[in-house]
Amino acid sequence: MRDRAELVIIGGGIVGLSLAYQLARMGMTDVVVLEQGYLCFGASGRNGGGVRQQWSTEENILLAKQSVRMFRQLSREIGHNIWFRQGGYLFLARNAETAAALEKTVKLQNRMGVGTRIISPAAAARLVAGLHTEGIEACSYNSSDGVLFPWPAVWGMASVARQLGVQINTHTRVTGIDVKGREVVKVVTDRGAVATRRVVNAAGAWSWQIARMAGVELPNKPYRHEILVTEPLKPFLEPMLSDLSNGMYFSQTMRGEILGGISDPDEPSSMETGSSFRFLARMCSSMIRLLPRLSRVKILRQWAGYYDETPDGQPILGRVEPLDGFIQLNGFGGHGFMLAPAIGKIAAEWILRKVDHRIFHTYALSRFKHGETRKENFVIG
Ligand SMILES: Cc1cc2nc3c(=O)[nH]c(=O)nc-3n(C[C@H](O)[C@H](O)[C@H](O)COP(=O)(O)OP(=O)(O)OC[C@H]3O[C@@H](n4cnc5c(N)ncnc54)[C@H](O)[C@@H]3O)c2cc1C
Repeated sequence: MRDRAELVIIGGGIVGLSLAYQLARMGMTDVVVLEQGYLCFGASGRNGGGVRQQWSTEENILLAKQSVRMFRQLSREIGHNIWFRQGGYLFLARNAETAAALEKTVKLQNRMGVGTRIISPAAAARLVAGLHTEGIEACSYNSSDGVLFPWPAVWGMASVARQLGVQINTHTRVTGIDVKGREVVKVVTDRGAVATRRVVNAAGAWSWQIARMAGVELPNKPYRHEILVTEPLKPFLEPMLSDLSNGMYFSQTMRGEILGGISDPDEPSSMETGSSFRFLARMCSSMIRLLPRLSRVKILRQWAGYYDETPDGQPILGRVEPLDGFIQLNGFGGHGFMLAPAIGKIAAEWILRKVDHRIFHTYALSRFKHGETRKENFVIG
């Protein structure tokens, strides 16, 4: 392992690797990535692969729109097929209040050049054969949203970054960060130390622990999020379906499996990744309510990963007081994968070329101190 680097990235998930990949492509290769497990160990290897532009804040719409454009090119760029399929996202509202919120977010998306439409339950049933529309008030549909297979995106970005000279150390756990005055001087691991003046905290659900090593308190909390996959079925489901009444979502993968999860308001913050019967029961009954033909399908597997949650459901990005060289890229909850291409590019331009961006102001850690938070209302799962 190198003993010094211009920049150290803690966390070999999609966020850290997207940054490493972009920096390397822009010519900065004196970069070391430190990952405690294998690539795909964290949330980036356990998620649903959903990519959507239907958000309620301008920043998320901007980031998602840019990321969709980038995902469309990514397979070619990295030489790994990420299986990005733009079959759309269909959100379902079951009461007037949610329907009104949908309408408001669609107007904002349209103003920002995202072509989401409000459609009737009857029109939704034409998109998804067998959809049970009783009790559904309104739907929003965007045909350019989609799903992908997360693993090749992670592996591909890592392999290009490596080829260009970035050193990615897996099975290397960060145990400490040495600070002198306002500066970071060294990152300590269980395999030796790396001297550096700049450190990026892209450790997902572990970010609060990493920050504490440098004397910084983050409000992030980890939450288990469970997910399941069924046996493969003949392709029949184009869009990702999401029921806003309980935060349930599922899509059909390119291999034919149905893959999805559901919000659980009673899930406490923890570092638990076991699988529960409660999830299985809630998820299955919710899926069958929407698509009764799934009642005979066999579940193959369930698993869990973490959402790295902040109090307003938005990430923490950029510098933190009083440490100049300690950069945060974390707190992505249930939508970090889909935003990672844009985040990596914007952060690389900011680090390397000092190109400022509104996200480093809107999503600064200091917003919590100054009461400048704006909740994202469209978080599901
Ligand atoms: C079940 C589930 C479904 C999801 N569905 C979607 C979806 O459909 N679409 C979407 O966009 N997002 C989804 N998400 C969220 C998404 O997966 C995350 O937001 C995203 O992967 C976060 O990436 P990351 O790089 O920040 O974190 P991670 O992928 O968790 O990477 C952080 C890495 O840091 C490493 N690390 C931690 N501590 C240390 C240490 N001390 N030393 C060295 N390394 C360390 C960890 O091992 C980990 O690999 C889902 C998440 C889950 C759990």
